[in-house]
Amino acid sequence: MSRSNLRLANFPKLSAGLGRPRDFRLTFLGTSGGGGPTPSRGCTATSLTTFSDQTWLIDCAAGTLRQIRRVQPSIRLKNIKRIFITHLHSDHVMGIIDLLKARLRSDEDPEHQSDQANIHLYGPPGLRQFVRMNLDMTFSELHGRYTVHELRHADDPASTAPLHELRPDEVLGRDIVSGPDNRWRLFDSERDEVFVDAAPLVQRVPCIGYVFSVRRRGPISQLPLPAGNLETSDGVGSEQSIPEWREAPMKIAILGDTSDASAIAPLAMDADAIVHEATNMVSDSERGWQSEEAARDNALSRGHSTARMAGDFARSVNARMLFLNHLNSHVADVSSIRLPTFLDHRRSVDSALGLLRHRHEGAELTDSVKEQAGRGYPGEVVVARDFLTYVFSLNEDRVLVRCMNSD
Ligand SMILES: [Zn+2]
Repeated sequence: MSRSNLRLANFPKLSAGLGRPRDFRLTFLGTSGGGGPTPSRGCTATSLTTFSDQTWLIDCAAGTLRQIRRVQPSIRLKNIKRIFITHLHSDHVMGIIDLLKARLRSDEDPEHQSDQANIHLYGPPGLRQFVRMNLDMTFSELHGRYTVHELRHADDPASTAPLHELRPDEVLGRDIVSGPDNRWRLFDSERDEVFVDAAPLVQRVPCIGYVFSVRRRGPISQLPLPAGNLETSDGVGSEQSIPEWREAPMKIAILGDTSDASAIAPLAMDADAIVHEATNMVSDSERGWQSEEAARDNALSRGHSTARMAGDFARSVNARMLFLNHLNSHVADVSSIRLPTFLDHRRSVDSALGLLRHRHEGAELTDSVKEQAGRGYPGEVVVARDFLTYVFSLNEDRVLVRCMNSD
């Protein structure tokens, strides 16, 4: 029996009223690794637009605002309601302040008159202080309100962001403590049936992976709900408000930098898509790079993964698709490299040949990184590039996948 048939067999047909498609629109806004942005890739940021037209960002590197403006109106700043941060390395967070300033720019927006937060940020301990200090030190004033919820373990030290330093544009966020299963339940939306769960990843610094899933109300609860705190759509936690939910019929897991994602595997099981970093890769002797073993050792020593490790993880959770991001700076996005033409008189022959070589190497390495991930994983591997967009549509019990901008 195929994997999709297995999944269908687990879900009895649901009653009427669920006929309209429910989409997750996944867009890569930055796909370069920690070496910094390259001519063809920005640093890490990914967006997920849900079927209520809310857009959520997962990481927000420097330049993310520019990337969003390049894809407007398919992503609207006003619709960005939540930002999920995986960890506090600079290649994942330095765009937050610019994003907040642009998102909460107008004091005439009636939404900004509310005492409630207009945008929620989630992330590891220290995020609240990071945002507060950077807003303070850049003399930034927001015309709406933001809030930061920190994902903590019970034995983490106390918050480094004292209450008396709360900014006038800040609503005090929650400290969400992991349950005995070492996971966080961030919130479920009563209206949208979209859940967000999280679990720690092995990295050199505290790092988090997020799982976004659509579940359905019903009498059968096939998955034990993770223990821990709960934030409902109105921001009030209450164990009593948990309805019974069926197993997720659509699920996307977006992970941060990691050398070992096994702690999130139970949450990511049977995901329709895994977004996994592939910082390190094997290369051939011609470039004087690394063997598979050396690449793996190098990745492990720095809290990262090779493409092969990403593939192994995707197979371990029976994922339908694997997207590779956080790529080596040599893996150029060839679709963004414009080749010279006969009319391009300004280019010297040398620079034109350099461009051709760069494009050829980028294509070769993109194929290679895909092939390396595929050695351990039989599903579809996609080497992400900036602005690549996939739509996952849940229709009845089936998830249909479409690429919106294939080459
Ligand atoms: Zn990184």
